Amino acid sequence: MLHKPYLLLTPGPLSTTRSVKEVMLMDWCTWDDDYKRIVQEIRAQLIKLASPESGFTAVLMQGSGTFSVESVIGSTVPEEGKLLVLSNGGYGDRIVEIAKRLKINVVINDSGDRNPPDLEKLRESLESDAAITHVAVVHCETTTGILNPIDRIAELVKRHDKVYIVDAMSSFGGVPIDMEGWGIDFLISSANKCIQGVPGFGFIVARRKELEKCRGRARSLSLDLHGQWYEMEENKGKWRYTSPTHTVRAFAQALRELELEGGIDIRSERYRQNQKTLVDGMCALGFECLLPREWQSPIITSFLYPRDEAFTFQRFYTELKSRGFVIYPGKVTTGDTFRIGNIGDVDPEDIQELIKAVEESIYWK
Ligand SMILES: *Cc1c(COP(=O)(O)O)cnc(C)c1O
Repeated sequence: MLHKPYLLLTPGPLSTTRSVKEVMLMDWCTWDDDYKRIVQEIRAQLIKLASPESGFTAVLMQGSGTFSVESVIGSTVPEEGKLLVLSNGGYGDRIVEIAKRLKINVVINDSGDRNPPDLEKLRESLESDAAITHVAVVHCETTTGILNPIDRIAELVKRHDKVYIVDAMSSFGGVPIDMEGWGIDFLISSANKCIQGVPGFGFIVARRKELEKCRGRARSLSLDLHGQWYEMEENKGKWRYTSPTHTVRAFAQALRELELEGGIDIRSERYRQNQKTLVDGMCALGFECLLPREWQSPIITSFLYPRDEAFTFQRFYTELKSRGFVIYPGKVTTGDTFRIGNIGDVDPEDIQELIKAVEESIYWK
């Protein structure tokens, strides 16, 4: 059955180009050399996008982004280790949940939904608790749209010589990141976010000498990060278990299109323009943003519900969907919000069309 097409303004899965979807029209063998070569090219490109320096390697992992986060947490922190998580939203909390489920010793510095991590508190934690071995933080906390200052956090983490893990799921490819410059040891993202591929796998760019230490640490067989990496290295692009071949092809095409667009800086600028067009338009219609501008990412924006009894998200959502736009419900505990993503195959003209649709959808007042 054919559904009416709409533009996804959600932070993954997101709107992809027709050409990314088209390369999935062929069935690909999972162990064939041509296919493995594509995997190796993808890994090399990811490393280049993450850092101009050498000393990094990349691992692709089946599943949604959370599987890759769980793979990193469960494979890097040793039995006697301790993880400090800086959380200011749902995805930070998820890292804590993963650690608890895996019975990893974990402490949390929670700065609340609307604030960046508290650097002073981080300094205190690192000075007072020598047992901490790893620090994890989310770059763009997609639940609110806040962009955490992972470079400034890095200064403290590295001064104390801890392993630094960054969930850059919704930012990698959409915001410039410098793993070497910022001292990041493990960076996690997935196929269906700013690289603009389709869902099916996540990936990890890792400092090679840190990943090498992780042999035998994993608490899971299928999510063993070192195991998966070892197989990909030894067998030149082979995954341990069935790989999402169509998704991988689409991802290779998406990487090509990122390059054609001009790279991460240019894409980042398009997202910024999208976000500015969105906020200017929404504010002109009377909507208010959850976050102050200084913390707002170019990835996704949270808006407060209009202060009107007649407003329901469900009706607003349905009105917009009927006009060709799909938005996202909110996910913060403090206050009612909805979210609109700026990432994917979306440009400022699309956002202007969205603003017109929003204006037509205002059924309250
Ligand atoms: C999307 C996302 C994830 C992973 O979510 P999945 O639904 O498992 O793909 C993790 N962290 C952040 C910050 C995200 O935006």
